[in-house]
Amino acid sequence: MALMITDECINCDVCEPECPNDAIYMGLEIYEIDPNKCTECVGHYDAPQCRQVCPVDCIPFNPDHKETQEQLMVKFRLLTANKKASQS
Ligand code: SF4
Ligand code: SF4
Repeated sequence: MALMITDECINCDVCEPECPNDAIYMGLEIYEIDPNKCTECVGHYDAPQCRQVCPVDCIPFNPDHKETQEQLMVKFRLLTANKKASQS
């Protein structure tokens, strides 16, 4: 399940550099998470890094993007392969 940022976000800029998948970006008014890039940090860390650093606890799981651990791992492998391809 990807994560999402709610409108309680105070744009503190802390989460964006913590994301190993570059899934967090500045939206029109607040930061947003691209569900196609968020793996819950599966493949990189044991827990979602953005949730751990957010000072206002506004990054819940996104109920519209339910995924199993296996699906998240497949997403992680695809993202990693794409990153390697774009760097070569
Ligand atoms: Fe990025 Fe991990 Fe947060 Fe998803 S859970 S947005 S992959 S830091
Ligand atoms: Fe917004 Fe939380 Fe990210 Fe700060 S850490 S920019 S409050 S989502």
